[in-house]
Amino acid sequence: MVELAINEDRELSSQEIKELQSEVRRLAEEKNAVILAHYYQRGEVQDVADFVGDSLDLSRKAANTDADIIVFCGVRFMCETAKILSPQKKVLHPNPESGCPMADMISAEQVRKLREKHPDAEFVAYINTTADVKAEIDICVTSANAPKIIKKLEAKKIVFLPDQALGQWVAKQVPDKEFVIWKGFCPPHFEFTAKEVLKLKERYPEAKVAVHPECHPKVIEIADFVGSTSQIINYATTCETDKVIVITEVGLKHTLMKKNPDKEYIFPESMNYCGTVYCCTMKGITLPKLYETLKNEINEVTLPEDIIKRARRPIERMLELS
Ligand code: SF4
Repeated sequence: MVELAINEDRELSSQEIKELQSEVRRLAEEKNAVILAHYYQRGEVQDVADFVGDSLDLSRKAANTDADIIVFCGVRFMCETAKILSPQKKVLHPNPESGCPMADMISAEQVRKLREKHPDAEFVAYINTTADVKAEIDICVTSANAPKIIKKLEAKKIVFLPDQALGQWVAKQVPDKEFVIWKGFCPPHFEFTAKEVLKLKERYPEAKVAVHPECHPKVIEIADFVGSTSQIINYATTCETDKVIVITEVGLKHTLMKKNPDKEYIFPESMNYCGTVYCCTMKGITLPKLYETLKNEINEVTLPEDIIKRARRPIERMLELS
């Protein structure tokens, strides 16, 4: 049954899901592998993982295990971060075609050119960047710690990349610094409009609105809460209202329902007149692909040693400051 299920782009039956999940767990034990799943992954992938979380947190957890293999169910830059923090482990990516469009909006060459233009600035990059880009910058940040870290930097001028929405949101909170912000964006978050959020608010007037800072500034303006995925989880599952409108990738609903099923989490996907915040590349990871990757130990993520060394520095600097 398991052999039949793989390599097929069709909905799996619940029986097939259960069988594949138990095979994945058996293989993980046998091979001493740790399975990581980002919050935006499909529910059946999250359920089979050792850890579910955001990208940096997952890579740090995997680095602290004695696993020989890390299978990262997320997009490419996340696998690279795992490799940077665990260079001695074998890192596998269940779908090598799953990249992050936002991370791919800036190259190492473009960062070098920016340096020439802004030699007096500190270069700050969102963790959602490729290893090549990380190797060129001064410090990394996450959506959870960006304002706090940037406030601590001595430089008066900050070049922030690649996400313009996060950059603008941070710049407002650090008004004493000058910001040069790269024009990258996360398509699923940034393209979701304020008009659509207002429609949801009209339908659920009693609900609070929680949004991710990768959203468009006009969406951020009307939110009750703005924060990283982990911060949204804390807010949505503990705030005083029973209903929360959540403007981030729909995969998060799975975690929210597990953490606190007594609340109602309204994601745009449930509204037939609204768009949705859905990341196609995140959803490019499927349970059959995870199974096949682990079984055959394929799709290994490798990085040149000097990139690992140089890309590790801005991550470590962030950890020291946070
Ligand atoms: S949700 Fe946005 S930032 Fe995250 S992987 Fe998808 S495109 Fe990239």
